[in-house]
Amino acid sequence: MKKKPSKLKSTKDRVIKYCILCSSKIKVILYTDRSYVGGYYFGKIPMSTKKEWARVMKLGTRKSKIGSLDIQVLKEDPKPYKYFEYWECLKCCTDAI
Ligand SMILES: [Zn+2]
Repeated sequence: MKKKPSKLKSTKDRVIKYCILCSSKIKVILYTDRSYVGGYYFGKIPMSTKKEWARVMKLGTRKSKIGSLDIQVLKEDPKPYKYFEYWECLKCCTDAI
């Protein structure tokens, strides 16, 4: 059996993701060279529970400065309980442009 030339990328995996905007299924094909087709991936988003948000809201805010601007920031950031992958399907991503 002949070996495939290494220049050619081959399919590594097929995964199903869901579009964050329209929640339609995205069939993503991952390639061995780390590229992918089928949707657009924007990275990981931290998720915090409402309870966690309520907890840090109770702790209150403190003043912070951005340049000459006084702003209120949370004393503590809510701890994420999980991260989810932000995917958009081809359609939503094309519509946004
Ligand atoms: Zn979509």
